[in-house]
Amino acid sequence: MAAPIGILGGTFDPIHYGHLRLAQEVADKLRLAEVRFLPSGTPPHRSSPGAPAADRLAMVQLAVTGNSLLTVDPRETLRAGPGYTVDTLMAIRAETGPAQSLVLMLGADAFLELATWSRWHQLFELAHVAVAYRPGFPVDTWQSRMPQPLAAEYNKRLMRQPLGIHTAPAGGIVVVPIAALDISATLIRDSIRDGANPRYLLPEQIIKYIQDNDLYNDNSSYIGD
Ligand code: ATP
Repeated sequence: MAAPIGILGGTFDPIHYGHLRLAQEVADKLRLAEVRFLPSGTPPHRSSPGAPAADRLAMVQLAVTGNSLLTVDPRETLRAGPGYTVDTLMAIRAETGPAQSLVLMLGADAFLELATWSRWHQLFELAHVAVAYRPGFPVDTWQSRMPQPLAAEYNKRLMRQPLGIHTAPAGGIVVVPIAALDISATLIRDSIRDGANPRYLLPEQIIKYIQDNDLYNDNSSYIGD
């Protein structure tokens, strides 16, 4: 069986080192063939993002340049109106065929929201789910934060051997600890608005893109050399 393909959805508003480390570490630990970044169009789960979909996509494309493990799937940003992950996964599954192992990658915070997603039970027919721990979601308390239907799926599907995702195309949940980088896009947008320098939270070329396109702030003087 071909090595699993990881799928990392998000608003990426903007993409930052927390996302890139999540992709790299989960790919290394689960021996993924590839991680596809899937920037959302108009997200169904939150208020409108700060930057237009075309800019968020362009920033993701810049961020993955130079790492052959990482690719970008633009389809949600090209679609008008809200898109649901389950529909996108169905389209990807149709392209890869039934035997390919697919892995939907989520931070623990996003996993806790999973039961609010459209037709979320169906996700497990289409892909495995890999949950990466990030700061603020310690392993010993997080199970108590899952709503009951999600906890039921978790208990049923948890794979004690994460590399088991190599032997089935979908249906398992694996938990992957990753180095804690307490970075969020919200923190970056806020610091830009406050006139602070976001350096070292995200790649330099993304900061340059934000400045060149005047994103998140009317006054782009925060970079100043
Ligand atoms: P925002 O602050 O705007 O809510 P965000 O930084 O959390 O954004 P998203 O685009 O919403 O980014 O996240 C996409 C995915 O990346 C989610 O599964 C989320 O859990 C995960 N993620 C985001 N930041 C980190 C981080 N620092 N470490 C690990 N995972 C992260």
